[in-house]
Amino acid sequence: MPKRRVLICTQVSELPPTLGDVKVACAQCGELVFVSPSSWTIIHDNPGIEIICTECALAQATTARSVRIHDMTPAQADEIAEYLGGAGG
Ligand SMILES: [Zn+2]
Repeated sequence: MPKRRVLICTQVSELPPTLGDVKVACAQCGELVFVSPSSWTIIHDNPGIEIICTECALAQATTARSVRIHDMTPAQADEIAEYLGGAGG
């Protein structure tokens, strides 16, 4: 059975827009999510990966038999640090 890979992204409704982020519809519920530049690298390196929102990811994590969550990439961590730094002034 092929492994299903998903990229979990935050819903647009839950975050202020961040420069460089692109809006994409969740593959499961259709809610718009932000895909950051570093996440595009992951999508590029993982053909066929599904983009889903945090709500759908949580729903699956509680029902799936085995869910493996990968570490954040350094680029993703940098973006979050940059975002938090910018938000705090
Ligand atoms: Zn969803």
